[in-house]
Amino acid sequence: MPFDLTEEQKALEARVRRLATERIAPRAAAIDRTEAYPWENVAVLRETGLLGYTIPKEYGGAGGNFLDAAVIVEELARACGVTGRIAVETNMGAISAVMCHGTEDQKRLAAGLVLAGDKPAICITEPAAGSAANEMTTRADRHGGRWVINGRKHWITGGGTSRLYLVFARAFAEDGRELGIAGFLARAGETGLVVGRREPTMGLRGIPETEILFENLEITDAMALRHADGRLVGFADLMNAYNSQRVGAAAVALGIAAGAFDLALDFARERKQFGRPIGEFQGLQWKLADMAIGLEAARLMVRRAAALAAPFPDPLLAAEAKVLAAETAIRVTNEALQIFGARGYSRDFPLERMARDARMFTIGGGTAEILRTVIASRLLGWKLPQRRAKARADAS
Ligand SMILES: Cc1cc2nc3c(=O)[nH]c(=O)nc-3n(C[C@H](O)[C@H](O)[C@H](O)COP(=O)(O)OP(=O)(O)OC[C@H]3O[C@@H](n4cnc5c(N)ncnc54)[C@H](O)[C@@H]3O)c2cc1C
Repeated sequence: MPFDLTEEQKALEARVRRLATERIAPRAAAIDRTEAYPWENVAVLRETGLLGYTIPKEYGGAGGNFLDAAVIVEELARACGVTGRIAVETNMGAISAVMCHGTEDQKRLAAGLVLAGDKPAICITEPAAGSAANEMTTRADRHGGRWVINGRKHWITGGGTSRLYLVFARAFAEDGRELGIAGFLARAGETGLVVGRREPTMGLRGIPETEILFENLEITDAMALRHADGRLVGFADLMNAYNSQRVGAAAVALGIAAGAFDLALDFARERKQFGRPIGEFQGLQWKLADMAIGLEAARLMVRRAAALAAPFPDPLLAAEAKVLAAETAIRVTNEALQIFGARGYSRDFPLERMARDARMFTIGGGTAEILRTVIASRLLGWKLPQRRAKARADAS
């Protein structure tokens, strides 16, 4: 199987599991309680070379692949979902789009920021353009050789903490002609990039989800993503790169679920009722077996999608992995909470946090319904209505 782990990857898995247990897990509850961005964990990831692990060596990274990243993310997310997400977005999200499609200067800028501890943000969603991302109205107008960006994004992960923003906007040429949706890089602190309201989220509370407002943000043409022939990198290529983030999100969901499962298994061995460990009751044994089956299936799908990336994961494999991992994570964390009885419902134990954290993954980064549409459109060999609209949105 192309997604069997090599000896190096097994060693990486063991190293990250040890690191996550010793240095990441002890902080997970406090991150949830205080809702503070875990800069200490970022420092740990940086010190241990896990930030920008997929960045090519010539740009200072470890030159790893997406399967390495999926392994790292799963292990970190077992201990702390928020830290797992940071590992995704420093290895598989906007950074991968820039490292594939960026100019030399853009690659050096993004790699330098990530390796120094930045988690780039990706700005797609708008209040009136969620699943229908192609209906976005944020615009980038070419003006005097520069781009002027106006619009409003929301639910931007890392808003206010990220130093680099990959902004999807509808591009217009100097003569007003529409060029389609394209990608632009913006840096925090620039006049016209305003961090708006922070969402009060159910889980994964250590990463801000905010509005990002663009108010006549001016950027140089050097910050527009362009192919080698000068064409703007369009919606289709940007969304294709985004499949790496989807696989990363699936790995976080898987990791959170695996962490909850481990706790439930230990608890089922130790907790006694009716004079015996509760794990001796068949009702719980079958729950544990079903949880293990779901986790193993999700892990195979996540690793398959990551391992077969060329250069990005196939949209079908990424969608299948994310739907399965996300829905498995909701089920497994809830079953683990159930096995803990009243303790599962207490904030003194991690199960309720894990169940809240897991709930996100059927929504963010493409809902389970939209991903099923992606799968169905491939099965049927049709471009379903919303897929046709996406194709039209591509920059020319
Ligand atoms: C924690 C979190 C982090 C996020 N981070 C980012 C980020 O960093 N950057 C970013 O740009 N966005 C981000 N998002 C936004 C996310 O991608 C959107 O929430 C998602 O795409 C869905 O959009 P929506 O919430 O507007 O729901 P809507 O599109 O309004 O959908 C509402 C419901 O209708 C269903 N639906 C819609 N269309 C169809 C259809 N054609 N067929 C069947 N069902 C349909 C949806 O599945 C959903 O159940 C984040 C969201 C969350 C929750």
